[in-house]
Amino acid sequence: MNLAERAFSELFPDKQMTRELKIKYSRAFNAYNANAKYTPYSMTFKLSYEWKKVSDEIKTGLIQLLLLKVYHEKKRTLNIDLYEKFIKSVGDYTHVTETDIILEQSFKRVNEKYFYGMMDQPNLRWGSNSFSKLGCYEYGSNKVTISNIFKGEEKQTRELLDYIMYHELLHKKHKFHTKNGRSYHHTKHFRDKEKEFDNPHIEEELKRFLAKKRIKNVFGQKRKRKFLWF
Ligand SMILES: [Zn+2]
Repeated sequence: MNLAERAFSELFPDKQMTRELKIKYSRAFNAYNANAKYTPYSMTFKLSYEWKKVSDEIKTGLIQLLLLKVYHEKKRTLNIDLYEKFIKSVGDYTHVTETDIILEQSFKRVNEKYFYGMMDQPNLRWGSNSFSKLGCYEYGSNKVTISNIFKGEEKQTRELLDYIMYHELLHKKHKFHTKNGRSYHHTKHFRDKEKEFDNPHIEEELKRFLAKKRIKNVFGQKRKRKFLWF
């Protein structure tokens, strides 16, 4: 029995596995990312290369979580607990290699103002020109990614960038918590902290900014109109 098969049978002792289960390591992922792909005959767990060095106990938890996603089921195992403990802390030891001058300035402003300058700088990166995914924090690779639409030099854009940065750094600080097999990222506590941002109108300003940007984009790139309205 390979690791994936063992993870399956421990998670679902009553289920029959009808597919071939495989694990593949890939250098194409960000640190500690993973996914599961399947066909009617096989299921492949693709893990970022860093997982090679991680213990089987923790890897089992990762594979079980991926299995639960595929089967739309909720369950807890000891291995899943181990995995979550691991992923919450591993980012704090991940090498910081990526940065950008605008993002770094934003990080420093937010760190001074809201975290007493106590937060370590994570990896910082611009994402694509996205209106739906404004920012994200990846625990495993300790990386903040922020949509390219906040790259401008204007004062307002800078404040919005700081707001997104603040949101993502709150994820880095507070991580997530789990209950009955579900992970909670935007808890009440998180939302309360988010409201401590020093401009109480920032959410409305963000909405107006996004609406304006979208219209600009539509006029600028007529051919892509369909795609841009969502
Ligand atoms: Zn969030």
